[in-house]
Amino acid sequence: MQSSERLDLKSLIRSIPDYPRTGIIFRDITSLIAHGAGFKQSVRDLTEPYMDQKIDKVAGIEARGFIFGGAMADVLGVGFVPIRKQGKLPGKVVGQDYSLEYGTDRIELHADAIAQGERVLLVDDLIATGGTALAAIELLKRVGGDIVSAAFVIDLPDLGGASLLREKGVDVHSLVAFEGE
Ligand code: AMP
Repeated sequence: MQSSERLDLKSLIRSIPDYPRTGIIFRDITSLIAHGAGFKQSVRDLTEPYMDQKIDKVAGIEARGFIFGGAMADVLGVGFVPIRKQGKLPGKVVGQDYSLEYGTDRIELHADAIAQGERVLLVDDLIATGGTALAAIELLKRVGGDIVSAAFVIDLPDLGGASLLREKGVDVHSLVAFEGE
């Protein structure tokens, strides 16, 4: 893609104040993925750093991580592994509780989703406090995955999640940042 043709992805992300709670500005990627060229560029830009990284599996976090992660797995030509909310996966699972910017939750992963030593790329739409991503990394490690990197469309840097992951030795990539929250 020529640089002159590049879209401003940030401008395609809709901001909805006071959702799901007063004081939270929800960064809504539905406006980005509804834009064909915007979705394509975001998937390409997210995947580009990993083309030569010998990724074995892309793991996406429910639900918006599935949208980007599934497309990225297709570009990389590798399998996709879903990390889901409690009770959604039919097979034997491992689970992890975590806290969010607005609440607490539990995620699960099929115990046989990753072969021992497989190189895994974790994907979600947004990193805020990093609680969700750290829980996902814990699960992926527990089943034998080697976490190559974590990729996010959006970083909220003031909430510290990306820094926290880096402090724990995880490589982090993101496409756009919303400062000041
Ligand atoms: P955290 O665990 O705090 O890093 O939160 C990240 C998860 O919560 C991601 O799955 C996001 O989709 C969601 N999330 C947290 N804060 C927001 C926000 N301000 N706008 C949209 N999604 C958010």
